[in-house]
Amino acid sequence: MFIVKCPGCGKEQKTQPRPGLVTSKTKRCVYCGRNFKIHGSMPKSRIVKKV
Ligand SMILES: [Zn+2]
Repeated sequence: MFIVKCPGCGKEQKTQPRPGLVTSKTKRCVYCGRNFKIHGSMPKSRIVKKV
């Protein structure tokens, strides 16, 4: 489970990508509906933290 931050509205939300597919995972924001990629590398990532 990850906490990710939407680049559109800046809201944080949980997501649970399947193991090994983090870099190809596209998350749809539950607040504004924007689709954004969840990068595997932390500097570029929308991932705030792993939980
Ligand atoms: Zn959003």
